[in-house]
Amino acid sequence: MEMRDNNDTIVAVASGVGGAIAIIRVSGDKAIEICDSVTRCRSHKRLADAKGYTLHYADIVDESGRIVDDVIISLFRNPVSYTGEDMVEFSCHASSYIQKEILNILVNNGARVALAGEFTIRAFLAGKLDLSQAEAIADMIASTDKASHAVASNQMRGGYSSDFIDLRSKLVELISLIELELDFSEEDVEFVDRGALLNILEQIIFKVDTLKSTFSLGNALKDGIAVAIVGSPNAGKSTLLNAILKDDRAMVSDIAGTTRDVIEESLTLNDVRYRFLDTAGIRSTDDKLEQMGIQRTFSSIEKAQVVILMIDSVECISVESPQGYVNSLIDALDLDSDKEVILVFNKLDSLAKIEVEAMKLLETTFSTNGYSVVSMSAKQGVGIDLLRDILIDLVDTSKLYTGCTIVSNARHYDALNSAFKSLEIAKQSLINNISSDLLSQDLREVLHNLGLITGDITTDDILGSIFSKFCIGK
Ligand code: GDP
Repeated sequence: MEMRDNNDTIVAVASGVGGAIAIIRVSGDKAIEICDSVTRCRSHKRLADAKGYTLHYADIVDESGRIVDDVIISLFRNPVSYTGEDMVEFSCHASSYIQKEILNILVNNGARVALAGEFTIRAFLAGKLDLSQAEAIADMIASTDKASHAVASNQMRGGYSSDFIDLRSKLVELISLIELELDFSEEDVEFVDRGALLNILEQIIFKVDTLKSTFSLGNALKDGIAVAIVGSPNAGKSTLLNAILKDDRAMVSDIAGTTRDVIEESLTLNDVRYRFLDTAGIRSTDDKLEQMGIQRTFSSIEKAQVVILMIDSVECISVESPQGYVNSLIDALDLDSDKEVILVFNKLDSLAKIEVEAMKLLETTFSTNGYSVVSMSAKQGVGIDLLRDILIDLVDTSKLYTGCTIVSNARHYDALNSAFKSLEIAKQSLINNISSDLLSQDLREVLHNLGLITGDITTDDILGSIFSKFCIGK
């Protein structure tokens, strides 16, 4: 991490690329003074004399007196601003030349270019928001659909933090009861009965476990649900992909290879984004790897939460044991138990009536064994709706819009896992009547881990690693 001096007055472009207007923010002790020296308000007033929450129409001038742009200035005074410091925001014309010039002029007059996330670090240090709220701001900016927006929004507005504050205060209460016992241990009296302590501890464990269990949903919603379509060559994977994306052409996006290393397409169903992995592999028909049974799929299977196994019914029905054939395909995928598998029996249109009956029996067998099953003609668009419904049903969005706490941040999940482990140890210690000092050590470890989430406990390293992922200007 580069050097960060919190006493500097910092400046950065806060708006994105394009558009007609850009926003340049300045924050720090000297923000108003610096801005006064490079602007001429049309009202002939000085910003130094103006109140916070006021707007000013002004020209920005460089050292030679040249007018670079006319801007609207929003003035915020310490402590009522995003960072808690004096802040000035210029709404200027969005030319990249103008933006660069204004930055230069401000830097020449004593401001420093801000580091990534530096405005938000200051907001955090000023106590405007806690760490989980600061992280939610980055998630909010990155949100692409109603579901990921809802997760970030709840976290940003502090509903999330209040859960952790409650948890910490319960824990502090428990620790103080135990440490009270320690302080008076000489006197050989037991203050609180261990059954009561266990009761409080179990409530805390239950809460941490509940929070932990929301992560798979939260993480999936934040990044979109990853879906891999796999199956033998010619099973109809690309036909299915085209069919399922067809109605949502407007929603389909090609994400260039750089960030995720594969080309993928995504589709929003019922507010949730589904990402179809490695669709380049599915689509390229001259790919050598297509020669190999189930091809190119293992890396995308590993990343996927949902695996759609396409089965060519014509081929399936022609072998001696269709059930064995499907089982061998499933086995070949070597799936972890946490993945949702959807079996799609494709090319139903090419089957004779009697074969359709046989396939129906096969489907019943697999759905009785717990698989989601769809019979389909991808080519004719039959069964696509059912598949969509199954995808939608995989995600329970009911918790999303009721303000329930959903953990979507991997850093928080790690901290919760560590907290959970220490809680389990503490529980055993309590049950086995292990001495209070060890017990209190374990519980302090839990307190530490929960503190990492909200930022009650931070180090410069933690702040550095979190905020370096922010965009400049935030
Ligand atoms: P992939 O290799 O798994 O991606 O398979 P494709 O989607 O390229 O399809 C292979 C062949 O099967 C193509 O000729 C498709 O037109 C055909 N096909 C795909 N779905 C169906 C279907 O539902 N019924 C029939 N009869 N043919 C299909």
